[in-house]
Amino acid sequence: MIESEQTMQTNTSTPEVPCLFCAKPRTLPRGRTSGEDGTLYPLRICEACGTVFLWPSPSAEQLRTAYATGYYGEGATKFGRWIERLRDAFATLRARQLRRPLAEGACILDIGCGDGRLLRSFQNTGRYELHGIELPGPAAERAAKIPAIHLHLGTLEATELPPASFDLITLVHVFEHLPRPRETLDQLTRLVRPGGRLFLAFPNIRSWQVRVFGEDWFHLDPPRHLNLVPPQAVTAYLQSRGFRLLAARHLCLEQNTYGWLQSALNRADHHRNFLYERLKRNRSYLPDRGAAIVLAHAALAGLMLGPALLLDLASAGAGAGATVELLFERSATT
Ligand SMILES: [Zn+2]
Repeated sequence: MIESEQTMQTNTSTPEVPCLFCAKPRTLPRGRTSGEDGTLYPLRICEACGTVFLWPSPSAEQLRTAYATGYYGEGATKFGRWIERLRDAFATLRARQLRRPLAEGACILDIGCGDGRLLRSFQNTGRYELHGIELPGPAAERAAKIPAIHLHLGTLEATELPPASFDLITLVHVFEHLPRPRETLDQLTRLVRPGGRLFLAFPNIRSWQVRVFGEDWFHLDPPRHLNLVPPQAVTAYLQSRGFRLLAARHLCLEQNTYGWLQSALNRADHHRNFLYERLKRNRSYLPDRGAAIVLAHAALAGLMLGPALLLDLASAGAGAGATVELLFERSATT
């Protein structure tokens, strides 16, 4: 074990680590970022496409621990009641926007569907054939309780789905978790029917929040976010595969506003995501910290909310939002 760790450390200093996205050989060290447990994860950046990725890749044990410790929330839902209602409202809004071109009976696939919230929102807005893919765990157990969803437990790679069969495929904050993002895009391009759509929402490594907060950026989220591919690189790749970019949205209040608040708290406190974990009711994270510290974090976040909203608007206007939503359409002739 020690030997293999040493080998991995040696690899970080060599320039021949290929890019996790474009596979070109020239990547450079780009600092380190701390996980919630204090583990430092080295980052690399690709000179060709600008993708930032964790290298060495986190071990299976590190990933298992990171997803097990309250990632999906400790209770029947991920967050408390009011935040869950807010998330429902955002999901409903997203479903209403994405359903516009869909005919009745359209086939929708949500990859990494979590608790099935977005699919449930589609169900509430029309009659569709709904498919979700999720790894076994608490979130999938919640999704399994929604009868209208065809739930596929496991990974996309292990799921047998007919090619060119989906009118809409969505990945909402899933792409950055993928160990082989380009290969996954290849699979998706085969699953979308000609004229069908692909929707991706993911963190933007070229955002203002990255420039301001660097390794303290909330959406780095090590070790769970394995890749941060620039939106421009994702777009260029999908265009080369016969897709057309219909819309690129940088204003995402659900994700970006809180990113400012938690990134600033990460910078001030150095215990990554403390308030965020408390909002998820994850009491196993820093259990000895009392209510006074939680209140101090919440008060600081409250004070920063107004400026954060203004920064959100400004960064979205500059095309540098903390997360982006990209909507593509597959050419009808491919
Ligand atoms: Zn690259």
